Amino acid sequence: MPEFGEQIPIGGGRLEFIRDPQRGISTRISGTGETFRAIYQLAVRQDGEILGAVPVGGLRTAPPPPPPLTVFIQSDLQGMWGRRCPSCGSYFRTDHILGPTYCPYCSVVNDDMTFVTDAQKRYAKAFVDAALTAFHGTENVSIDLTNVTDATLEWQYSEEQQQFHFKCVDQSCYAETDILGEYGWCPRCGRSNARRVIETRLKANEEKLERTDREVTDRHLRGAEWELINNVAFSTFEPLGNHLRTRLMLFPATAKRRNDLANLSFQRIVSSVDALERWFDIDVLGDMEESERRFVNLMMQRRHIVTHNAGRVDQDYLDRSGDSSCRLNQRIRIRSAEAKRLLPLVRKMCANLLSGFEAIT
Ligand SMILES: [Zn+2]
Ligand SMILES: [Zn+2]
Repeated sequence: MPEFGEQIPIGGGRLEFIRDPQRGISTRISGTGETFRAIYQLAVRQDGEILGAVPVGGLRTAPPPPPPLTVFIQSDLQGMWGRRCPSCGSYFRTDHILGPTYCPYCSVVNDDMTFVTDAQKRYAKAFVDAALTAFHGTENVSIDLTNVTDATLEWQYSEEQQQFHFKCVDQSCYAETDILGEYGWCPRCGRSNARRVIETRLKANEEKLERTDREVTDRHLRGAEWELINNVAFSTFEPLGNHLRTRLMLFPATAKRRNDLANLSFQRIVSSVDALERWFDIDVLGDMEESERRFVNLMMQRRHIVTHNAGRVDQDYLDRSGDSSCRLNQRIRIRSAEAKRLLPLVRKMCANLLSGFEAIT
């Protein structure tokens, strides 16, 4: 997975330690223009070891002497900082920097200090070294931030287009986060952003169906669109399942169960749905009649045959789908009525999956 870069604003900035006979040494960051919005403070020992973040109002308990220095880390223009998860090693950006932090990818919670990136550690060390030079010397000290921050790729942002921004929907949280991919856990409260993401995806497919029905008249073109819509319908379910699995993996379980869960394929809807009900009491097909369940299976088998056999019926399809309307080697067609019937059922399945997951406490 490509990394996206550390976006700490540094262009042409200078960090200065200015000696003043009356007031001691003061710090100034200059020349960065309007490139950052906020700072957060780290207490850093003289050897560069980071002791902790300094909350508003200062540290509650004084660390052992010598007193640590306070290092300022600038945010990006969105007021966010880079973080690296100590559990899975993945990188993200967020405005949640103080207190326990959930990884948006693996959902494991750790102390905020363990998320400090290598680049931030290097910066803190350079900051402390410069401050000590100013303290022990007789001159002002000024360092070009480019020199301490620009040396590695981590500091450049090259994969910007792959970043997905989300704001937590919880009224008392509202943490903001940038991740790769769409599904994520809020770093502050640990809630999933899945409801909003799945709604966007389902809606896009439903709108595509309406648009095709309204605007496309050519029979072949319409047929190709129904196949595409059928395909997308099923591929919305899989990433949602994969995302929720990251949290389910953290529940107490036997080694075998955890292994089975890790290997569960949400592409095979029938077997994954069955496992979710047995293991977690999540009823994905809840409120669906037997005929609707059979229909979902039929459409899923058609998706499979369209994707893997150019739409030509094989024996496996006949065995699994129970479709008596076509023969071996016939080219199957998906009709508009079938696509229209399927989408609300897929919407229901996604809603059931989410509700079932959220009901686990
Ligand atoms: Zn992680
Ligand atoms: Zn939150």
